[in-house]
Amino acid sequence: MAWANYHTHSDFCDGTGCPEDYVESALVNDIVSLGFSSHCPVPVENDFSMPMARFDEYCKTIDVLKNKYSSRLEIYCGLEVDFVRDIDIAKDIDLSRLDYSIGSVHFLGREALMMNTSVDMRKEMLEDSINRDCSGSIKEAVEIYYNTMREMICTSDINIIGHLDIIKKNNKDNAFFNENDKWYRDLVIATLEAASKKNKIIEVNNGGITRKKIDTYYPSVWILEKCFEMNIPVTISSDAHSPSQLAAGFSETAKDLNDIGFKEIFILEQGKWVPKKFSSEGIEI
Ligand SMILES: [Zn+2]
Ligand SMILES: [Zn+2]
Repeated sequence: MAWANYHTHSDFCDGTGCPEDYVESALVNDIVSLGFSSHCPVPVENDFSMPMARFDEYCKTIDVLKNKYSSRLEIYCGLEVDFVRDIDIAKDIDLSRLDYSIGSVHFLGREALMMNTSVDMRKEMLEDSINRDCSGSIKEAVEIYYNTMREMICTSDINIIGHLDIIKKNNKDNAFFNENDKWYRDLVIATLEAASKKNKIIEVNNGGITRKKIDTYYPSVWILEKCFEMNIPVTISSDAHSPSQLAAGFSETAKDLNDIGFKEIFILEQGKWVPKKFSSEGIEI
């Protein structure tokens, strides 16, 4: 039995530890297919993205590791690419150098990116962004979030949809909205329909749980149940920012997915996305 993870940061962006530290962690955690996904360079300085000047070094570093460890595990070079409405961030990056990409929405518009107010930071930052970028309306903020994600799904070549509902990160006790409200559910369902049509993989990201930021997956279980009904492919990911987080909680996540009904998750094998049977013990290779 084995595991795979494609949402892996490192000291090329806001993670701790160099890529080789993550490879060493992968080897002791039975990970047989490991993808690196640094935050892609963005056209404004911040403390979490990889600087554009390091992109070449990043690709070369992962290449060296691919060769060095080729007899022990498969290693892939990816990026977590930001999608922000009205800005084509991916246009400056040579995506052909990547084996795959994760598409994520962290910002509710150009101003939010420039001011570095990501939806997954502190609650006050989300409030700042709602007031400044969304006329003070949480509903408008959520609409912008999911509309940006739908546009990403429909117009880009990303393989994996990153933390689909991270807009809920600061929504403890329904502080901003109620996931049961029809308008919210309709936005999520429209996003899933686009994902299904465009054959995107949705990651089941347990990073918020293992880092004790939130007590649910991204996305929520009710959304995963819809994914199962709609036959949308899923993969398990840790969104690791340190080597010790690489496969944290995978066994519980796999069990929860089995309980929903999922029998297969998707992994990269010899460069292709393939379904694999899995249980709480791991993936059948
Ligand atoms: Zn992210
Ligand atoms: Zn991430």
